[in-house]
Amino acid sequence: MKSASAQQEATRVTLIGMWLDLALGIAKIFGGIFTQSFALITDGIHSLTDAITDIFVLVVARIAHTEPDDEHPYGHGRFESLGTIGMGVVFFTTAGILLYDSYQRLLESASIPIPALSGAAIALISIASKEWIYQYTIRVARRLNSSLLKANAWHSRTDAISSIAVLIGIVAAYQGYIWMDTVAAIFVALIIAKIGWELCTDSLRELVDTAIPLPRQRQLQDCILAIDGIQGITSLRSRLSGGKIILEVRLLVDPRITVSEGHQLGETVSRALTGNFSDIGDVIAHIDPETHEEAAITIPHQSALPDRQQILANIKNQWQEFLSEDDIDNISLHYLENGIEVDLTINMEEISEQLARQLQQAIQRFHYIANLRIYSKLYEARLDQPLA
Ligand SMILES: [Zn+2]
Repeated sequence: MKSASAQQEATRVTLIGMWLDLALGIAKIFGGIFTQSFALITDGIHSLTDAITDIFVLVVARIAHTEPDDEHPYGHGRFESLGTIGMGVVFFTTAGILLYDSYQRLLESASIPIPALSGAAIALISIASKEWIYQYTIRVARRLNSSLLKANAWHSRTDAISSIAVLIGIVAAYQGYIWMDTVAAIFVALIIAKIGWELCTDSLRELVDTAIPLPRQRQLQDCILAIDGIQGITSLRSRLSGGKIILEVRLLVDPRITVSEGHQLGETVSRALTGNFSDIGDVIAHIDPETHEEAAITIPHQSALPDRQQILANIKNQWQEFLSEDDIDNISLHYLENGIEVDLTINMEEISEQLARQLQQAIQRFHYIANLRIYSKLYEARLDQPLA
């Protein structure tokens, strides 16, 4: 678990990067207009898209992670996916417009103005400050062991490369290769298109319920199987919502444990997963009774077994000449692969062999009953009540 101060430091380095992108974006767009460098303007737009992405992550993601409500019982994660796609489309369109403009400029390259060399100075400032934020972010990322911050740091390196292209374009254009400024702009526009593409594809994968990668699935399975009482996993379904994993897992457990114990095991699995992995959003556990390998073919038959009400009516009817309603304390049914096991508890101190045989013979006609166990209820102690 990350401590609060580590989280604060991660937020601070992201915020500094965002403000830097905002400042660089505005400086490069105005600088590009004044020095007549199209590449510099494009790089300014690139920095602005980076700043907008950071603002989106900081503000919208927070809204998306609000608790589920009546109208959105699965939470608000998909709002983030939808917002990200919208943003990706805007970036993609921006890149398209910039590429079209560049194409137009290449066609009329004779009439476009030569950029001023002072534009190169702005590009140099951009390269230097981007390299500085890379060094700062990567240091924090290594200390916190944060892969997200590491990715952010490497993005800053890419931004520096983008500005290097602009610098080369401006210097070359100043020396007479005017089209080089436009080529640099095309290079930067393609980077913006790539950002837009990645934002869209990641969120689209989320929206069409793509499973998490196989190695991740195996990692979660190993965590579940390490829990005492879990005998196997029948199926594991995963999807993402707002970057968090939603997991539906079918757990194999001993068929004779009680419902509350099965529920408890489900809770244990849920706690283990959310405790060990920070990206688990929700775990839905389904409890399956374990059946033997060779009995797998009889499972369809299991669902065809009569329900509890019908079975109780049938067997009580057969037992009425031996047992009164008051004699029966409890009847538990176990739906197993070879049929139903009946656990009968009766309010008698002693059960004669004759009675046991009679009860057994009375229900033998029901082919779906596989086994009968009879218990006598001798004593029941409520531990929350003082002894008399
Ligand atoms: Zn960038």
